[in-house]
Amino acid sequence: MSQITEKIKKKCFESNKKILTKKLAIQTFGNASQRVNSKLFVIKPSGVNLKKLKSKDIVLINIENGKKIKSKLKPSSDTDTHRILYKNYPSIKGIAHAHPTFLTSWAQTGKPIPNLGTTHSDYWRFEIPITGILNKKEIQYDYELNTGKSIVKLLKKKKLTPETCPGVISRYHGAFAWGKSSEEAVKNLEAMELIAELAFYTTIIGYRKKVGKHLVDKHFFRKHGKKKYYGQ
Ligand SMILES: [Zn+2]
Repeated sequence: MSQITEKIKKKCFESNKKILTKKLAIQTFGNASQRVNSKLFVIKPSGVNLKKLKSKDIVLINIENGKKIKSKLKPSSDTDTHRILYKNYPSIKGIAHAHPTFLTSWAQTGKPIPNLGTTHSDYWRFEIPITGILNKKEIQYDYELNTGKSIVKLLKKKKLTPETCPGVISRYHGAFAWGKSSEEAVKNLEAMELIAELAFYTTIIGYRKKVGKHLVDKHFFRKHGKKKYYGQ
């Protein structure tokens, strides 16, 4: 295996560890992956406790057919969800998935997270959307692939890009986030969980006037797009 692939495996391994240290998952829940090139990505193996995970355990996957390459371990059961996102969006370089408390609570309500302030707007320009309900057939056959397809469908329907929407809520399930690396994907997932927590308290307390578009766009565009200047 090439040195580049080994390096990316190590990065993916560290991102998977971060899911645990940032308390975004318990036990074997949660997984992170990273793109190697247009044809390959690496992902966490299936059922391995994040505490016991080693860099060499990370599995290399073919984006086109989903087959693993030179690995004894089985890839994460969510591999097809990651794969379909890499296949549809070349700009996605890393993906993180988990079931953190606040995001999963929103997932279980079936509600998107409204944009209620600047922390949200620093990452998501609009609401954090939620995928549709899978039908019986979609759950029985190729469930993980259909979970991925429901995310692609949602982004296309709402005319969102991986850049304006760095993650979505997977209905009844949890959240998927992405970025320019697996590390950035985990950071976006962490921010997403904080936003979900803030939105939970904000809606419980109740707000007087919803945040205006000018403030939302100020925060989003100072961090994203051609005219960004924040933190440079
Ligand atoms: Zn899951």
